[in-house]
Amino acid sequence: PEAITVQELANRMAEKGADLVKAMFKMGMMVTVNQTIDQDTAELLVTEFGHNIERVSESDIDLDTSYDVDADETLKTRPPVVTIMGHVDHGKTSLLDALRGTDVVRGEAGGITQHMGAYQIKTKGGDLVTFLDTPGHAAFTQMRMRGANVTDIVVLVVAADDGIMPQTVEAINHTKAAGVPMIVAINKIDKPEANAQKVRERLLEHEIVVEDMSGDVQDVEVSAKTGAGLDELIEKILLQAELLELKANPDRTADATVIEAKLDKGKGPLATVLVRRGTLKVGDIFVVGTESGRVRAMHDDKGRQIKEAPPALPVEVLGLGGVPMAGDMLSVVESEQRAREVALYRHEQATAKRTAMAPASLDTMFSALQ
Ligand code: GDP
Ligand code: MG
Repeated sequence: PEAITVQELANRMAEKGADLVKAMFKMGMMVTVNQTIDQDTAELLVTEFGHNIERVSESDIDLDTSYDVDADETLKTRPPVVTIMGHVDHGKTSLLDALRGTDVVRGEAGGITQHMGAYQIKTKGGDLVTFLDTPGHAAFTQMRMRGANVTDIVVLVVAADDGIMPQTVEAINHTKAAGVPMIVAINKIDKPEANAQKVRERLLEHEIVVEDMSGDVQDVEVSAKTGAGLDELIEKILLQAELLELKANPDRTADATVIEAKLDKGKGPLATVLVRRGTLKVGDIFVVGTESGRVRAMHDDKGRQIKEAPPALPVEVLGLGGVPMAGDMLSVVESEQRAREVALYRHEQATAKRTAMAPASLDTMFSALQ
């Protein structure tokens, strides 16, 4: 399954790429240094050059966190992660802002918020809820395609004055495909032309039967403008979270998912990550995608310095070697050497994939033979 370019193989054997190309030419194979060869060919070359073969399995080099399941007794309840979806202009951004406004911590902290792709609120009852502030359906699907299912609950926003629209249907389909429970927030009920009942009825056509129609999908009438129904929406999110029994082991090295990342002119590469399990700490050494790094500092969405980030807390991390991609998994490892090894391996894998796709031209083939 493993592929390597001729050049990489040459590097590992401390031979010249061109010598490998020549040797292969003698064996009847026309390749360039940038081309990928399979494991059997690689082994043939290695023996041809008088080196020993040492097979290293992928799991020896890369991190495989899938086998490493936390025992039941280590699991503790964690806050839910909520994504808001719905048709354009139905009030996703307004609702995210309004919900953020209900945060009791934000009130105490003076209300300075920074945009970072996700935030966490503390409810009046003391419960924590994390919201992903990336309402684009594309972002949701893209993350899912990259294997990053971070959302526990989807809040589907439907404007009561506009009803079910194309992107509402799209959101319903994405949610169903992800197998994530949904709560319907019927928004803009402050408007005179609002018709919440019509929304409920039209949802039936998409097999969404809300509680009011004796179904099991929770629904709530809200107004992001007046704040009506927000407490009820939060209550329903917490109820749904309780049913899901969301748990994670906070007492281990952390795994986190990149929500968004950018290059800041002053601070360097920055990533907003959501801790999935374990506790991410300042000083931790990690691998994220094809980059390695060490947590230099962390901030929460209120701009406060954080020393330790528990599960479901979104934090902005400083100290990355490069800018990762949304959906990448950040994993804490035991040493810098290990971090570099995994990052380099992943980098090589990514390069090999790209090279394998690029067709070799005759020109490069001949220049390699000279
Ligand atoms: P998004 O595209 O889904 O993010 O929608 P926005 O949050 O940008 O809202 C679209 C428009 O609807 C804006 O002009 C909002 O002020 C308005 N709006 C959002 N929620 C409400 C609401 O509950 N009541 C009223 N009257 N207007 C709202
Ligand atoms: Mg918006």
